[in-house]
Amino acid sequence: MLGAVRNSVAFLLLVVALAWPASWARRARWLLQDLPQPPAQPAPQVQPAAPAPAAIPSGPVIVLDPAHGGTDTGARGEGGRAEKDIVLALARTVRGRLERQGYRVLMTRDDDSNPSYDDRAGVADAHRDAIFISLHVASTGLPGTARAYWDQWPSAARQQPARPTSPPKRLAPQPTNTLVVWDQAQRPYLEVSHHLADLIQIQLAQNFSGSPAASTAAAVRTLRSVACPAVAIEISNISVPPDALAGSGGPLSAAIASGISAFQPSAAVGAR
Ligand SMILES: [Zn+2]
Repeated sequence: MLGAVRNSVAFLLLVVALAWPASWARRARWLLQDLPQPPAQPAPQVQPAAPAPAAIPSGPVIVLDPAHGGTDTGARGEGGRAEKDIVLALARTVRGRLERQGYRVLMTRDDDSNPSYDDRAGVADAHRDAIFISLHVASTGLPGTARAYWDQWPSAARQQPARPTSPPKRLAPQPTNTLVVWDQAQRPYLEVSHHLADLIQIQLAQNFSGSPAASTAAAVRTLRSVACPAVAIEISNISVPPDALAGSGGPLSAAIASGISAFQPSAAVGAR
């Protein structure tokens, strides 16, 4: 009898011992089900290489402004040649060459119209990252030379800042919350425009022998309403034979492209 009881107790203990871990394992599973579970992590998959994005032009918008137009002929040369026609042809040449290098280019006019100063500026002011370049042909000056101008604010006429020997530390002007008077839009950009004009002038001096080494400050009304870096380039002069003037489009676009890429390295075609 005692042996039978002992056997029964031993059997009971064996059953409990066998059932215990299974019971706790189930309870543990229920507990876990009540806890917030981390999201299942998908197994990493090897993605096929994404196709190369289409070449989207980036960098600044270069706004070329052929000066004058319509009844405003600008300088007049022999045989009735007009500055307005020469600068339009030059701008078209420069646009084509810059576009082939990957730059985005707009023109303030592409016909014999004469947009207002504000309309010309508006083409650049509609873009957040624009560079405005007005093109002129002078009636005087050493033939075959070229000058870059930046707008000199009238009140600063007697206080022209010393020419910087190194680039300004802050190229982007600080935005202001105050309303900008339309014909003072260039005022916050004078420093960067001066810097851009100097960089373009360095290139002009290399491409147009006899040109000055540094840019020139002058009151340029065309630039005054432009809210971005803005320069005017003037080629001398209207008496230069037509073929030679027309041929200056190549060196002019080379100087502009080099000057802009030095001014804004991320705009350089090779950096995109
Ligand atoms: Zn002009």
